[in-house]
Parts: sequence; structure tokens; C-alpha cells
Amino acid sequence: MTLLTLASIATPILEAKEQAKETVVVVLLGPPGAGKGTQATMLSSALHLPHISTGNLLRTHVQQKTSLGREAKAFMDQGKLVPDKLILDMLFDRVSQEDCRKGYILDGFPRTLTQAQAYHNRLGNSSRVVALNLELSDDMIVERLAERLVCHQCSTPYHTKYSPPKAEGICDHCQGKLIQRTDDTEEVIRKRLAVYHHQTAPLITYYAQEQSFQTISCNQPIENVLEEILACLREIYESITKE
Ligand SMILES: [Zn+2]
Repeated sequence: MTLLTLASIATPILEAKEQAKETVVVVLLGPPGAGKGTQATMLSSALHLPHISTGNLLRTHVQQKTSLGREAKAFMDQGKLVPDKLILDMLFDRVSQEDCRKGYILDGFPRTLTQAQAYHNRLGNSSRVVALNLELSDDMIVERLAERLVCHQCSTPYHTKYSPPKAEGICDHCQGKLIQRTDDTEEVIRKRLAVYHHQTAPLITYYAQEQSFQTISCNQPIENVLEEILACLREIYESITKE
């Protein structure tokens, strides 16, 4: 998709967004390796929607030593998981800001059914939630991730098939050596996927019943995935403009 095509697709959505009477929350579901982060970034810049990652929020609060950050750090220092309630406090603190009024994209949250229920209880009926399930088979994910390489000096990512370096094993930018991340071996990836399926299957059932829900295949070029996401959001924004 060229930039021109993207602009022509995005313009009517941006217009509808301005008229929208509700906040649209985009929940991205999908296994690690399906390209959630990439889609969230592209979507955020196409529609000027804040991309909210609870992982980043947590890091920021801890670094800035806010009261929520200090509370979270006490759990982390004991090697404990930060409770969902604290994460939700950080999330609602962020999404109550003006730039989230017309909508925002949630990436990496909720991960479990319990988190989803707690989030929706607090959200109430104030927002329109659309859940997009980015789907890719385990075998395709293994193929994508297991052939991923990264420069050990400048961290530029490569892929042996989709974005190979000019010279095998050497970074195009700094001539550094390309290595495989230790968490990118097939065995580790399959374990991560098993955890994902176990946690997320109930989440997908929940969203399929409760909210606007759409499954999008990621076994196609990333531009096409983005186009499908945009088509779905256009429908949502236009529906809440008319009401
Ligand atoms: Zn490099």
C-alpha cells in the first residue's frame, strides 16, 4: 500500500473520528510474532490514536517514581507480579487524558480473562470496544521468529527470508555480527505459544460474545492486514457518528 492509498483510506475515518460521540478502544489480540506491535504502530500513526502499552506505562511510572510506580516496584523487588489493580490504575490514569478522548489502541493488555473483566467493569459503558484478533498459525510464527536475526552491536533486526542482510551474517549498517536472540529458538517459541493459547483462548471467546470482534489473518502482507483493520474501524467510527 502506497502512502497515497493509506491517506485516502485514513481520511474518511479521521473525519468520522472527529464527529464520534464515544471513545473507541481498539484491543489487539494475537500471538507473539503475529505482528501486533507493528500494526499498533502503523494504526496509531494513520489514525492519530495513542498506542498504549501497559508494559511501557509500568516502566515509566517506576522510572519517574510516581506513587503508583513506587507501589509497583515494591512487588517487583520481591520478585512478585505487579497486581492487575495497579496496572489498571496506571491505564485509567493514562486514558483519562485528553488525547485518548476519541480512542486509543491497547497493545499487550488484557492478556487474561480476569484482566479483561476487571478492565471492562471499570470502563463501564463509556467506550466502544473493538477487539481485533490477529491470527497466525503456530508453524508460521515459528518460521517468522526462528529465522529472525539481530545485530549484536546496533540491534537492527533482520530475517533470513523476509529481510536478509546484504552479506550473510553481517549487519548492513555497522558490519556487526548478526545473532539469534536466545528466546527465538523453536523450543522457546513453542513454549511461549502454549502459554499464549492457554491464557488467551478464553479471552477470545469472551470478546467474540461481548464486543465488536473480528478475526484478521496475518498470513498476508502487513499492508493488507492494516487495510483490513482500517476497514473495520471505519465501520465502527461511522456507526457512532450517526447515532
Ligand atoms: Zn549493526
